[in-house]
Amino acid sequence: METDYIIKVAEIGAILSRLASEPVNEKQEVPKEELERLSLEVEIAKSDNAFEKGIMDIGEMAEYTCPSCHGALVKIQEGRRIRYRCHTGHAFTASALLAGITESVEETLWQAMRGLEETSMLLQHIGEHIMDAGDHDAANVFIKKANETADRARIVHDSIFKNERLSADLKYDKNKEKGKDKKKD
Ligand SMILES: [Zn+2]
Repeated sequence: METDYIIKVAEIGAILSRLASEPVNEKQEVPKEELERLSLEVEIAKSDNAFEKGIMDIGEMAEYTCPSCHGALVKIQEGRRIRYRCHTGHAFTASALLAGITESVEETLWQAMRGLEETSMLLQHIGEHIMDAGDHDAANVFIKKANETADRARIVHDSIFKNERLSADLKYDKNKEKGKDKKKD
């Protein structure tokens, strides 16, 4: 986003008051293409039908899929800003998309962990059942598999806690860190 003023908090009131009382001379020329896209997006927001409204034609196809519905995403470039929209109508800034994708990785890992734990419990259960029936060798095969599967579930569990949810806030965290370093020097 273009910045008009970088000022101290104490100066904000005076500048806002001056800007609000100034007459607007310049008529902002919005390019025709941008106006058409804006009106299409307003239509999508109203009717909730991005695909029929032709959303796929207003930008380039992105390499990612929508974290909400897994639909194909279109990349919309507006000056230095990039936004994304999927064909069902979900909209994201680059930061929101990053947050959505990392959150969806976390959900997938939880699902994988749950699946592995269920497998392990079932293998253990079948093993014990066969043990009761007297076939110790066969039972031990199932119980060994149950333990191996539980180990894999533990690995997924650990990686969930290493998986970070990321967004553009990362940039500000890094800036803060840099600021700290400078102060130290
Ligand atoms: Zn979507």
